[in-house]
Amino acid sequence: MQRPSFLPLLGILILAACSPSPSSESKITVLQGAKLFDGTGNSISNSVIILQDGKISAIGGPEIEIPENVNLMDVTGKFIAPGLVDAHVHFSQTGFFDGRPDALDIRDTLRFDSLQARLKRDPQPYLESYLRSGVTAVYDVGGFEWTVHLAKSAESNLNAPHVAAAGPLLTPFDQDRLDIFNVPPARQMLALTSPEFGKEYVQKSTAMGSTGIKIWSFNLKDSLFMQSLRAVAEEVKTQGNQLIVHATNLDEAKEAIRLGAKVLVHSVDDQVVDEEFIQMAKESGVIVCPTLVVVPGYSIAFKSLRGEYPLNDPNQVVDSETRNLLKDSQAFFKYYNGSEKFEEMVKKTEEVDDQLKTNMYANLKLLYEAGIPIALSTDAGNPGTLHGLSIYDELEAMQAAGIPAKDLIPMATQNGAKTMRRLDDFGTLEVGKMADLIILDKDPH
Ligand SMILES: [Zn+2]
Repeated sequence: MQRPSFLPLLGILILAACSPSPSSESKITVLQGAKLFDGTGNSISNSVIILQDGKISAIGGPEIEIPENVNLMDVTGKFIAPGLVDAHVHFSQTGFFDGRPDALDIRDTLRFDSLQARLKRDPQPYLESYLRSGVTAVYDVGGFEWTVHLAKSAESNLNAPHVAAAGPLLTPFDQDRLDIFNVPPARQMLALTSPEFGKEYVQKSTAMGSTGIKIWSFNLKDSLFMQSLRAVAEEVKTQGNQLIVHATNLDEAKEAIRLGAKVLVHSVDDQVVDEEFIQMAKESGVIVCPTLVVVPGYSIAFKSLRGEYPLNDPNQVVDSETRNLLKDSQAFFKYYNGSEKFEEMVKKTEEVDDQLKTNMYANLKLLYEAGIPIALSTDAGNPGTLHGLSIYDELEAMQAAGIPAKDLIPMATQNGAKTMRRLDDFGTLEVGKMADLIILDKDPH
């Protein structure tokens, strides 16, 4: 198997922090000599990029005039790209089962309410895992309300990526079934029970500062849910927010586009998409966030209950709490009480994963070839999909699905910023944008 050429990203150095410095003192840094990928698909050899007050003040080739008294860095032989963007994460989840008791209930050992209190109190370890991975912006597309406030605080935190957040999710399921995800009265999953409730929620969420209203799964046969969903979709337009839909089957994905969804999360995985879907996606401008690694991640997490978690983390991006938890994952085997023998369940899960993978990879390639905008996204926080680290697995999976490395760069940068509605600020390297960039030792092409 050919080694994915994006692996050199592991030798990353984050050069510039995310937000402009609050200091009024002007400090100019010039990076000279690298091959630069600007995030739009273009590249500049022997580049010069001038960074001033946290922003890009000039960018181009050797013709750019370098002012005097600057901090000049010769980066000849290196490669520069915009900071990476992960367009689908969850700060209310940990990468293991403690954040997903619906998948494996280990709450007798690790309490869910204590976990959620800790995540809310101290999201910093995950924020730093992202920065250490070269990720300078993330989109939390579902979690407790505090994740929306995190988006604001992260903006002035130099040790954090930019964050956009959707907040709590609307779903067709009954509230009692959802409370396994909640810490009442705080809820990250809400039953969408009427058009009035839906409209009010959209208004409240938008006023709070959410960047998206996420629908967690459809039920096309539930007429009250669908009626409520139409009211939500209308209100989202009125409020100038954006509709994000988790739709993994073709009929639901089409309905999401009809309702005006701007972001489709996950891939269609029940079948290969048809021409009608491709045309609808094209005309609507919807962004597709494939999340290829999250499904096999569950199998990895389950298998870890029988042995050590296969953590490949040479740059130590994973926080110590998570690392310790994964090291002891065998201690949680006792909580598996499924109807099938554990090994049979794992085998069946992997067979299903393989079938889904076949459709997901085929659909990603079709959408890519049709020119549909695609944003790199991991669904980090789900069991087996770790904050920060999983971005490399997703890049490699996208490449394995048939996307050339050169086209992965805009998907991993520009398109993620667009999904977060922050493309005016970052995502590409252009004059006036924030100096969010990474320097690579090796050519990412
Ligand atoms: Zn998700």
